[in-house]
Amino acid sequence: MKHINIPIFIPHLGCPFACLFCNQRRISAAQAVNPSDIIAIIEEHLETVKHSERQVELAFFGGSFTAIAQTLQESYLEAVQPYLRRGLISSIRISTRPDCINAANLRVLAGWGVRTIELGVQSFSDVVLKASARGYLSADVFKACHLIREQGFKLGLQLMIGLPGDTYQQDMKSALQAIDLRPDMVRIYPTLVISATALEQMYAKGIYTPLSLKEAVKTTAAMFKQFQAHDIPVIRMGLQPNAELRSTGTVIAGPFHPAFGELVEQEVCKEQASKAINTFFNLYGSYKAVNLWVNPRDISKMTGHKRQTIYDLQESFHLDQLLVRQIDNLLLDTVGVSTGSAANPSLQLTRSQFLKQ
Ligand code: SF4
Repeated sequence: MKHINIPIFIPHLGCPFACLFCNQRRISAAQAVNPSDIIAIIEEHLETVKHSERQVELAFFGGSFTAIAQTLQESYLEAVQPYLRRGLISSIRISTRPDCINAANLRVLAGWGVRTIELGVQSFSDVVLKASARGYLSADVFKACHLIREQGFKLGLQLMIGLPGDTYQQDMKSALQAIDLRPDMVRIYPTLVISATALEQMYAKGIYTPLSLKEAVKTTAAMFKQFQAHDIPVIRMGLQPNAELRSTGTVIAGPFHPAFGELVEQEVCKEQASKAINTFFNLYGSYKAVNLWVNPRDISKMTGHKRQTIYDLQESFHLDQLLVRQIDNLLLDTVGVSTGSAANPSLQLTRSQFLKQ
């Protein structure tokens, strides 16, 4: 059954914190809604949904839901209740900070039909959390995750890479610590320098250097592989490229790309293809013309942005010709290899085989 999200943005509402990288009002184009607007937003979305085939979840995104006034939280949740009772919406999701979770507020959320809680963890390193002025430590993250699990919610974790004080090794360590908590889903966001933030001032003074796009793609790809290897879905990589984020003057510096997640998937495909070609050459000897075989739905992931993956693989394997060919009966995320003249792949490497190597 297809999953549909009705997103409701509550940017910066009630957030008393000032994380160095955040200017929530600029990132989230939409302004905070009134509880009375929620019904209109739900009705508008439901018009486009065929219920028999869809599972609809209402998601409060943007700010720290449990940091807003209790009465306002409950007015928001109350507005959704008629739709939950009629089965038009099946559950509610919220996102919040780890230090804004406790047993009492979890009980209230459960009573209103909240089933999923996404935590903006960002890092498991206390050094990075302090350097980014997050206002909590990793111990708070573990405590919140255990409470959320104990009360039977689905758990989502949001991680950031390239924060002040961060390193590639630390990002990988954070990914492994996240895996230990067995989240139901993960999001990975590269840090961007957004205008009118403290990070912008640090950047201007030369105290902070953001990751390059290439570094951010490499790091996220390495984390993505770890999560895939542990069957943990990565549901988003890179910020949603909304109009505000794309407008001139919002992103001052950093690895912003409107299709960041696709770049990461292309990187992983390239690594997998490289492994497959290597294995093929070890088994059958080197060739100058090679075919890569993929499911038709994986063609663009395999070819890469402006055919860059093809050029890179051709160069590293000294190939005169590398063709990407499609074949219906190949599983998604599987790469086949053959000589340039063959009509079928001679070797196949699935994603899970690749991840185990
Ligand atoms: S807690 Fe969230 S909304 Fe508040 S300043 Fe930090 S990133 Fe922004």
